[in-house]
Amino acid sequence: MASRQQTLWDWASESAQYNVEEIRPKVKGKLALGELPAAPAREMFDMIRKARELHLGLEGYLGKINLSLTNNRRRMLTVKLKREAKTRAPYYELRLHHMFLGCGEEVMAQLVGFIRGEDAARQQIQRFIQRNREAISHDVEHADLNDLGQFHDLEWLMKKASDLLQNDPELEGIKITWGRKGKGKRSIRLGSYDFEQRLVRIHPSLDQRWVPGFFIEYIIYHELLHALYPPVDDGSGRRDVHTKEFRQMEELYPHYKEALAWEAQHIHLLLQSQHDE
Ligand SMILES: [Zn+2]
Repeated sequence: MASRQQTLWDWASESAQYNVEEIRPKVKGKLALGELPAAPAREMFDMIRKARELHLGLEGYLGKINLSLTNNRRRMLTVKLKREAKTRAPYYELRLHHMFLGCGEEVMAQLVGFIRGEDAARQQIQRFIQRNREAISHDVEHADLNDLGQFHDLEWLMKKASDLLQNDPELEGIKITWGRKGKGKRSIRLGSYDFEQRLVRIHPSLDQRWVPGFFIEYIIYHELLHALYPPVDDGSGRRDVHTKEFRQMEELYPHYKEALAWEAQHIHLLLQSQHDE
């Protein structure tokens, strides 16, 4: 989990290339997220979004701020007034504990008062920290879930794939997991759907940073289509697994062509990584 903690920002900008608008803050100062706690992808997005809101909000009152979100329980808030080297224009260097993410307008106004050195605001902020100290003392541990990889959160990706299928009631209760590594195979099955267990399995070689989220989402989308369009007997005793209907639905995946192109370009790397272990 430690590696994820250090690479949050890398993860956000690389893996989330299709959500870039959501996570690139249009702010004056820098936003540093390196010390946020480890969390599944959907929670990371949520934290990043909240960090962006907070940064924008505070800059609205105070001008340029370099904001760092921390996980430091002893120093929840530190602020320094600095000056630009060339222009001598003032700006704030602000380090905030992540408990302030999503804190709302009222607390944001108190933060502004605190940063400006107002005594009343200082007391209000101290009370806010007291109230929230408890809530952060037991961070959720996700390590046991096998839908959470080192780089990709399958549950979150399945949620997105399911949204694309209008959350068809047939999909309800389907579970997802990273599969096990096969040994010495010349081919690789990136995903599968188990009708009995109602379980989607995703090949663990896809849990790498350079594998884009949209590609895994496409594999999941494909497997969910198997649940919606079960194989049919083609009349001659053969099972048609990928029916015409299935194929038509598959092409509706928003990044379908990109996914196929990505697979063609990278399949040799995926096969290779299967053998590396
Ligand atoms: Zn298939």
